[in-house]
Amino acid sequence: GADTPSDLEISRAARLLPITEIARRASIPDAALEPYGRYKAKVDPALLPESPARGRVVLVTAMSPTPAGEGKSTVTVGLADALQRAGENVMIALREPSLGPVLGMKGGATGGGYSQVVPMEDINLHFTGDFHAITAANNALAALVDNHIFQGNQLGLDPRRITIKRVMDMNDRALRDIVIGLGGPAQGVPRQDGFDITVASEVMAVFCLARNLSDLSDRLSRITVGYTYDRRPVTVADLGAQGAMTLLLRDAVKPNLVQTLAGTPALVHGGPFANIAHGCNSVIATATARRLAGVVVTEAGFGADLGAEKYLDIKARVADVAPAAVVVVATVRALKMHGGIPKSDLAAENLPALQAGTVNLHRHLENIRRFGINPVVAVNRFITDTEAELRWLIDWCAEEGVTAAVADVWAQGGGGPGGDDLAAAVLRALEQPSDFRFLYPDELPVAEKISTVAREIYGAADVEFSPPARRRLQEIEERGLEHLPVCMAKTPYSFTDDPTVLGAPAGFTLHVRDLIIKTGAGFVVALTGAVMTMPGLPRNPAALRMDVAADGTPSGLI
Ligand code: ADP
Repeated sequence: GADTPSDLEISRAARLLPITEIARRASIPDAALEPYGRYKAKVDPALLPESPARGRVVLVTAMSPTPAGEGKSTVTVGLADALQRAGENVMIALREPSLGPVLGMKGGATGGGYSQVVPMEDINLHFTGDFHAITAANNALAALVDNHIFQGNQLGLDPRRITIKRVMDMNDRALRDIVIGLGGPAQGVPRQDGFDITVASEVMAVFCLARNLSDLSDRLSRITVGYTYDRRPVTVADLGAQGAMTLLLRDAVKPNLVQTLAGTPALVHGGPFANIAHGCNSVIATATARRLAGVVVTEAGFGADLGAEKYLDIKARVADVAPAAVVVVATVRALKMHGGIPKSDLAAENLPALQAGTVNLHRHLENIRRFGINPVVAVNRFITDTEAELRWLIDWCAEEGVTAAVADVWAQGGGGPGGDDLAAAVLRALEQPSDFRFLYPDELPVAEKISTVAREIYGAADVEFSPPARRRLQEIEERGLEHLPVCMAKTPYSFTDDPTVLGAPAGFTLHVRDLIIKTGAGFVVALTGAVMTMPGLPRNPAALRMDVAADGTPSGLI
């Protein structure tokens, strides 16, 4: 309503602590802190005191998202604040928002209500420039590729088979397919090209999976930029571009320290797409947080079938970041949508629809158990939820044998009592032994990894590979890349590849349209359905509601 303050108004009304004070609370010595103004700083992990990574990781994920909204970031922030309130030494690790969605649909991605990381306007806009650095590193590579072709093309790169694209951190559909190098012999060699959004780039995925600067350089050097006329892959190392690219990322790889509204320290760093990439913050940030705090609360994009599966099968394979507990965010509203109720009718109490929708949550909970981890359900409370609905849902979770709690952190703030029950539930889960295991072993061939995810996580009966996908499978075998994990690109709205199929469908066929071999990131992307690597703006972009007053006060961010 008109008297409910916006996320931006709440953020700006808050009294922030100087970032040096947040660093002190997090035991970050001055020598390791590089302040960017008063409320942001980079942390240099190399200058932190030697200490073993001991923090237990709590991964926040969700049921299949709906337009009703789930609130993973909000719950991540609220839970961390509540854990701090309970006396835990806690740190958050979150993704950095991309400008494209901020100016397009979302208007911001730093949590919401009274559970936010702040200053939200800085974090949502240019922050400390990491995405600009990633954009520059990627585009330096693109320029070096075209220059190589222009200067005589010693490597024999086939201009029709360049796989690296230029990027920008903007939703700009007009740049999806373009022709470059027009204007005659002095201007370059014409070829068809296109832009992706920065967060969909392999450089971003590499940035987020690298353990340190030298691992970053190694991974960048392995990126496949294209193929020669005789179909041999050409890598960044063949061009010799990894040095300049790593240099451009030298500062960006240091995690960014900010705070929540309740003064909990948060590392906000890296932000790969959850479709074409793995959708969670950088390994460096999560690993650094584990060195600094006893409990690390982090988040994975989309629902648990995508974000959590990739966190567990990709990120946890690269680094020692396996969670000790997984929180699955559910909302009464989303459950009712999965139970067949249209968005317009979600405000009315409807226990039968709520019950019908639990099939979706049930499958996500079973999936988390497949990894050997006990899930905790966080019911993110909306003001339209009735007491009867909330009680019914908590009882249902008890019958499922799952620890559950209502989180009222959006309205009350995680620093208040709204997150106490969830914090207590998570602390109980952390005391239970977990027995983490990957869904599939490294040595399983890529095609079988895909069908394992499809059958065990999605509930598919089988997988159909298109002819192009089959050719890629052959290339994977020939190049000796069968050991790579798979990064599934699927709609988040459904367990199937059709976004309109809600609930918990079974017995369907998953269609794999194509595969993309990401030799730098170190995974094979399986494309099911249409996947956007350069989004467009909606009819009413959030950007058109944004402004800044003469004194610099922003407005229009969510
Ligand atoms: P996700 O991380 O799942 O994308 P966010 O935490 O970013 O979701 O929340 C999306 C939007 O929903 C934000 O604008 C946030 O303010 C709003 N939101 C989240 N939880 C609630 C809630 N309990 N009540 C009302 N709005 C909420």
